[in-house]
Amino acid sequence: MKNFDYVKPASIAEAVAAAAQPGAVYLAAGTNLLDLMKGGVARPSRLVDVTRLPGLDRIEHLPDGGLRIGALVRNADLAHDAGFAKSYPAVAEALLSGASAQLRNAATVGGNLLQRTRCGYFYDTASACNKREPGTGCDARGGENRLHAVLGWSESCIATHPSDFCVPLVALDAVVEIEGRGGRREMALEALHRLPGDTPERDSVLEPGDLIVALLLPGDAAGFAAHARYIKVRERTSFAFAVVSAAAGLRIEQGIIRDARLALGGVAAKPWRARAAEQILAGASPGADAFRRAAQAALADAKPSGDNQFKIELAQRILVRALTLAAAGTPQRVPALPASAFSSFAGALIDA
Ligand code: SF4
Repeated sequence: MKNFDYVKPASIAEAVAAAAQPGAVYLAAGTNLLDLMKGGVARPSRLVDVTRLPGLDRIEHLPDGGLRIGALVRNADLAHDAGFAKSYPAVAEALLSGASAQLRNAATVGGNLLQRTRCGYFYDTASACNKREPGTGCDARGGENRLHAVLGWSESCIATHPSDFCVPLVALDAVVEIEGRGGRREMALEALHRLPGDTPERDSVLEPGDLIVALLLPGDAAGFAAHARYIKVRERTSFAFAVVSAAAGLRIEQGIIRDARLALGGVAAKPWRARAAEQILAGASPGADAFRRAAQAALADAKPSGDNQFKIELAQRILVRALTLAAAGTPQRVPALPASAFSSFAGALIDA
């Protein structure tokens, strides 16, 4: 492993200044970063440890009924926060479907947003990878690529974003609060992650020194709580990243869908908001016909990047499944195998 400096700032301002230097990265729980460093995939010259920064581990209620979630709140603590799960059950379901219990106990909200792709070639330093080493090529194009992107990919990179958490967050118009060299600013989470284009080495629009300090969930997003689900297909139910996932939230009044929120995971380099599908659902009666039309619209621009044609049909089916379950009503308890398309409701984990 390459030698690096380790600094532990006492304030956010100190952290931003320390991380603005070339080669510096932030360290929180390190559940992704330390693996990348041990494998030689990431070679930072400075780690800026933010774990002791004050005030970033709180969940606060906002005047509009929403929540402000500090970037250092642990994934497990957030998922089991009763107020959060009640207002945003699909986000809780997504959190509990990610990683393992041990990892969720350590991993932070901010780190979850910024975790890197799980493309196998990215982690193998003997492989060509434009994301790890710009200009070297992409071995995934002619290799094992059945889990890669079907939307928004480029010739430079066909990797997907791995987070479950981000999928319902994007559907619900979550916002990130960022402290940078120019002060504090807010940005829609949907705008944080980038599609690869010709610069796949940049996962997000963050600039050097930018620190995500909080995640904001708007109060009106809780209006979808009665009909909200996150459904995930994974190759190993116990612990695996999504092959495809879908978050669905519906506002149903007098038997009509008044508003819909949809997003897909495992299909692109960013959580994929399905706005065309949302428009089809607004004003429709909840049912198989409308759900199928919405799913087709959501994947209308999809094209395989390799041996993954099957994902396009699978994503449509998972979207229909998520919408069907959401329309039936959010369960009182999160299933025993959260977000699995095959789960029962035995062995509840949290009150929704
Ligand atoms: Fe690298 Fe992207 Fe190609 Fe994977 S898909 S090898 S991350 S360039």
